[in-house]
Amino acid sequence: MRRKLVAGNWKMNGDLATNARLLDRLASAWTNAERRALTVCVPAPYLAQAQGALQASAVAWGAQDVSEHRSGAYTGDVSARMLAEFGCRHVIVGHSERRQGHRETDAQVAAKARAALAAGLTPIACVGETLAERERAETEAVVGRQLGALIEALGSDTARIVVAYEPIWAIGTGRTAEPEDAQAVHAALRARLHGAGADAVSVLYGGSVKAANAAALLAMPDIDGALVGGASLDADEFLAIGRA
Ligand code: PEP
Repeated sequence: MRRKLVAGNWKMNGDLATNARLLDRLASAWTNAERRALTVCVPAPYLAQAQGALQASAVAWGAQDVSEHRSGAYTGDVSARMLAEFGCRHVIVGHSERRQGHRETDAQVAAKARAALAAGLTPIACVGETLAERERAETEAVVGRQLGALIEALGSDTARIVVAYEPIWAIGTGRTAEPEDAQAVHAALRARLHGAGADAVSVLYGGSVKAANAAALLAMPDIDGALVGGASLDADEFLAIGRA
């Protein structure tokens, strides 16, 4: 069954004192009574802090990237098993900032998703087009290729991932896709997932989601939640999106 999920991506932000205030507020304000899941994907050095602050709460935590390798000579990388040891439930893979800034390929993103699943984590796999691709009407082809690589690598395990549609031109820009435009892409992704026997996959929308625009986006039939960057650093904004 598709679950509602709002995931925060802190990116490379935070410090111990600021994190403590944010995490404590989320832990106390988000209760089990709410039938939707909330998770925060924090920088790796703060995983122990997130675990300590959230383990008795209804809020989950996770990481922003993972190695596709199990262990070995991969200086600077973090394995899925290490993330699992810190209680992570989720890990973002294939965020556009990693696809672009670190030249991650579709095959590498799929391998990271597979590594995450093998360690019992749920990968939140990001797909999305650039502005130039959108203007050339290539959106569905691009996200179809990105999702296709995941389906090809994961097979029936595709049903165990979460997908996040994040148009790159909307990330951190204050520009959000119109709900109907986002819905059209989500419907295409959902059709592709249906073809792969993965109807249970939740498809999140990401790109400048705020409390003010969340309700309209989340009212769309194929938008199951949100991946939230900047607004996840503000507890009240993030909680409001979670409740939207
Ligand atoms: C993101 O980093 O995944 C993101 C969607 O960022 P923002 O909400 O700041 O656009």
